[in-house]
Amino acid sequence: MDQRVRPMSLDDDHLFYNRKRWHDVRQIVLLRDNWHCVICNTKVRGKREAVVDHKLPRSIRPDLALDLDNLRTLCVVCHNQSHAEKQGGNSTGERVERFRPKGCDLDGWPAEVSR
Ligand SMILES: [Zn+2]
Repeated sequence: MDQRVRPMSLDDDHLFYNRKRWHDVRQIVLLRDNWHCVICNTKVRGKREAVVDHKLPRSIRPDLALDLDNLRTLCVVCHNQSHAEKQGGNSTGERVERFRPKGCDLDGWPAEVSR
């Protein structure tokens, strides 16, 4: 099997996840990880339990969207936790941006100290 995966331009989630290429890559990742969650080692069976997660979101690194090194098998629980952590605000993504602190706290003081 040719495992070389070429990046492609991605403008739309719907299109992306319906592309045959994604299904092929997803299958490769699941087989590589032996249908086990790479975090908790739970066996995942079938599409409902197995999530192929982008370590770096496509919004940040679209060029790695189909890179096997950027993909991992997760169970649903770990996938949700992983996204919650990303939203919690470390480093990498626009997922964090949706959770920006509001302008001020309950007492009316600015929540963020501006420089
Ligand atoms: Zn898991």
